[in-house]
Order: sequence, then C-alpha cells, then structure tokens
Amino acid sequence: MNSFSLERIIRPHLLNLKPYSSARDEFKGKASVFLDANENPVAGSYNRYPDPRQSELKALLARIKKIDPDQLFLGNGSDEPIDLLIRACCEPGKDRILIPVPTYGMYQVSAAIHDIAVDQVTLAPDFSLPAERMLSAITPETKLIFLCSPNNPSGNRFDTDAVTKIMTYFNGIVVVDEAYIDFCPSGSFTEHLVQHPNLVILQTLSKAWGLAGLRLGLCMAQPELIAVLNRIKAPYNISSLVQETVIRELKGKSVPPDAAMIIEERNRLAGRLAELPEVLQVFPGEANFLLVKFNDASATYGYLRNHGIIVRDRSHEPLCGSCLRITVGTPDENDLLINTLKLYPNN
Ligand SMILES: *Cc1c(COP(=O)(O)O)cnc(C)c1O
Repeated sequence: MNSFSLERIIRPHLLNLKPYSSARDEFKGKASVFLDANENPVAGSYNRYPDPRQSELKALLARIKKIDPDQLFLGNGSDEPIDLLIRACCEPGKDRILIPVPTYGMYQVSAAIHDIAVDQVTLAPDFSLPAERMLSAITPETKLIFLCSPNNPSGNRFDTDAVTKIMTYFNGIVVVDEAYIDFCPSGSFTEHLVQHPNLVILQTLSKAWGLAGLRLGLCMAQPELIAVLNRIKAPYNISSLVQETVIRELKGKSVPPDAAMIIEERNRLAGRLAELPEVLQVFPGEANFLLVKFNDASATYGYLRNHGIIVRDRSHEPLCGSCLRITVGTPDENDLLINTLKLYPNN
C-alpha cells in the first residue's frame, strides 16, 4: 500500500497559502446595494463579477456526477486543472511526472511550461496499460501520473485492475482523464474517489456534451485536494456567461443527449472502414473517434484533405505507425467519409 498524504504531495509553500480574497468571497449574503467590487453600477447583463465558487453550477454538476460539490473543481476546460495540478504538486526543475504513451499531448506541454521532466512508458502493442512497467518507472521525484481512459489517440479504456494497482502502490497522485467517459459511462472511476485519496478524475463538457466552445472542465477529488486547487486558481476563472449557459444547457439532463447516436455511428463507421482495402486495422474504440491503420496514412490524409475532409494524422506517435485518428461525425459526414475513401485511387 502507498503512504499518500497531501502534506507530502503539495508544494510546501502552497499548503498554507493565503489566497486572494475577492469582494464576492468576503460578502456572500443578499443585499440591495453593492459598492464593494468597483464594478460599473449601470445595470447590464454582465456588469457584475461572476460567483468565484460557481455554487449553483457545481450543485447541478455534482448531482449529475453523483458526488459532493466539495469534491468538484471547475476549470477553463480540463486543461486548466491539468496545469493547476502540476503547479500545485511539482517543484520546477526537480519533480517529475509519469505518463504512458501514446497519450493526450497536453500533460507533456503543461509539464514543460513548468520545467517538469516527463518520464514515458510505452503502452502494450494493444494499447493496454502495463501497470508493472508503470510502477517500475516511478522515481522519488515522481509526483503525478496521468492516465487517459478512454485513451486519446488509441480509443481504448484502461483495465480497472491495472489503474487500481497503480493508485494502490503509488505515493503520488493518479490523474485519470475521463474526457471521453460519456461514450462508455460504466467505466468511470468516480465511485473510487472515496477509497483512493490520491485519485483525481478529469472530465469535460467539450466532447459528449457538445460545449467545447464554452470551456468547462471538471476535476473531481477528495475535498482537501479540491480546496488546494481553489486556493491557487484565478479568482474568477469561470465567467458568468459560461456558468449561466451551462446551467441552462444541462438542467434536467443526466446524460449527454447526443452520446447514444455518436456511439451507434462509431460502431457503424468501424464496420464500414474495416471493409475498405486501404484499411489495415480499425482499433476497437470506446470514445467518439477511431484510430485506423492505413496502407499509407499520409497519402490517405492528403487525399481526404483534397476532398475537404480533415482527420488527424497520428502516424508519428509511438505504436501509431501509419494511423489516422478519425472523429465520428454526423451520419451524413460519416457516409461522405466512407464514400470518399471508396473512391481512393488505388482501390
Ligand atoms: C479533448 C481532451 C481534453 C480537453 O478538454 P477541454 O476540457 O476542452 O480542455 C482533455 N483530455 C483529453 C484526453 C482530451 O482528448
């Protein structure tokens, strides 16, 4: 078992940081005249600062996610909590993070911004998570492990036992990035939050909920860790416009309404792609994209681009030789993709 403690993992100068105290933090009651925040008094839709704690929005999201509001931090996309977690735990020039590869690129970029070294372990050839090799790659300076499940760009979900083993034996924080979890809801780790105080879960409204332009990311963890993130965030990191719009969009919903259609289209697209002579392998995906190995990925990419269809070339990522990552579109877009690929010149 690990010997995880927040005092050991959070950078010492942040443990007792006195956060900026905003006007909206100091006075939270009801009043008729607010002369405390140097706002413009002329009433408009947005002349007031937003709620720095996003209380109403958090209550709604906590209900949907079946957690307590004090287990929830909200960020400007999930990219903000990725950055804040590194900032909270890692001493620049000294500490390290550990990631399996291939995976989402932002962990490495965020680490580099903070001068944090990144250790990498290559996934198994079927993209499964090699728990033993991950555990062997931990150093005394390793503070965070980022696991993306379902993984971007491979699309597979990591085995629950493998993730649990890493959480159990690692003394630092395991961040499970569930950006795509709404496409395989039974796989979420949210119910493990209580047993594992070193577990942090990231989710986002950018994928299944269709709100990428609004920028809202969820970070779920034990309340003491959430409190640290709240202390170091920018006071008004989620605008009023975003808070109101998300409440309006999500009220009365428990799952993203388009997810079922996208899952059905993903499965149909996987079948149709597998029939094409240019396609060598369609990796089984549980997200809203498919990783597909082609005879010649860069030629296929160029051909599709010339026909106005843009996919993502992942062929230079580890284990992804000659692979394109294809997001599941609308039924019409997916038909157009298939019909265009059927006319590929070598067929
Ligand atoms: C898209 C994506 C995100 C980005 O989420 P935002 O909330 O839009 O910042 C995070 N993690 C993974 C793995 C993603 O693919």
